[in-house]
This record gives sequence, C-alpha cells and structure tokens, in this order.
Amino acid sequence: MIQYRKFIFNPFAVNTYVLWDETHRCAIIDPGMVETREYSTLFSFIESNKLEPEVLLLTHCHLDHVLGWEGVHKKYGLVPQFSFEDGESCRRQNTQYLTMFGLDFPPIPSMGQDLSGGTAVKFGQSELQVLDTPGHSAAGLSFFHAESKLLVSGDVLFHLSIGRTDLDGGDFNVLSHSIREKIFPLGDDVKVLPGHMDETYVGYEKKHNPFVRGY
Ligand SMILES: [Zn+2]
Repeated sequence: MIQYRKFIFNPFAVNTYVLWDETHRCAIIDPGMVETREYSTLFSFIESNKLEPEVLLLTHCHLDHVLGWEGVHKKYGLVPQFSFEDGESCRRQNTQYLTMFGLDFPPIPSMGQDLSGGTAVKFGQSELQVLDTPGHSAAGLSFFHAESKLLVSGDVLFHLSIGRTDLDGGDFNVLSHSIREKIFPLGDDVKVLPGHMDETYVGYEKKHNPFVRGY
C-alpha cells in the first residue's frame, strides 16, 4: 500500500506529493519548491523518514508544478518523467510567465522521459497507472494506484471545482471528458489528490461537483 505526504509550495500554493511504499522507495510528484526553505522541508522529510527517491513525475508542465524539478534532479539524480507534448505546449507560454513572475531560469524540464496514458511507472514494489487527462493543459497526466485507491490528478479535478481551461491547450469539453471518462470510472471510493487545495473523493465529486456532476 502506498502512503503519501502533501506539501504546499510556492506563491501559487501548489501541492507537491511524496508517495512511498513498504520498501521506503518514493515518488516525488509536481516539485513546486522555489525557496531554500521549501527545498529543506522536502529534503528533510525524505531524509528523516529514510525514504529513497526513485522517480520524479510531473502531472503537467505549468510553471507552479515544475519549479523545483532541477533541484530534485541535482539532489537525487532523477530525470523528470512527463508528457513531452505538454512540455512543448507550456514552453510556448513561458516567455510571458517568466516576465510576469520575474524568473530568470527556464522551468520547463530540458531533459526527461516521455510519458503517456496507458503506460505505468514503477517505484519500490508499486506501479502507478498513467492516465491521459488533457483539457486543463495540452497533455496533462494523472497517476493512479489501484490497490491504494489513490489518484494524483494535477489540475484536472478539484474539490467542488475543475482546472482552468483558458490557458494554452485548455478546453472545457476535453477536460470534462477526461474527468467523466477517465477519472469517474476509477471508483467512488478513490481518493483524489489534486494539484491545489484539499483532497476529495471521486464519488463525492460525481455527486456534487457543479462542473461535471450528473453525467
Ligand atoms: Zn496547471
């Protein structure tokens, strides 16, 4: 069974997750660290729990979800695994955002492994299913662990909300299709770990989420 810990990093309050299993090997998902203090928080958690980072995953490449990828790479030698298509789309928006947030480094990964739906990512003795869940970004991914009933959904589905669809690659119909066809069938008791704000459950959102309920 997988255990997890959520951290909230950077001015966008992104949720960064560490998932681990009995082997104490772990996955780091959406590393949002930007300040030294945030890096220390993550690294000391990993150290004090004797975890061994084995994979670095990105649900999508919006700035707030990738800011700390290079720091994780330098510390643990991991290359990010993400959708290259999503990376390309986000790179196009980059200049605008870099200026807007006064950043002087290119946050979209310049190296990595291309991931797409239908594949699986292994760490320890666990396997996460990769789901294509586009619509918030061009080719966003979600990561599902069936046995633990956990879904890391990025900015696709939130507690009583959904991801914004006004950025490059965003499309409400595509997003709504991702939620209804990829996430809802996973089961009502699946816990959703979103990219921002609180955890929720598939069944709860199916019933109450004003954007996608009633399908
Ligand atoms: Zn996003």
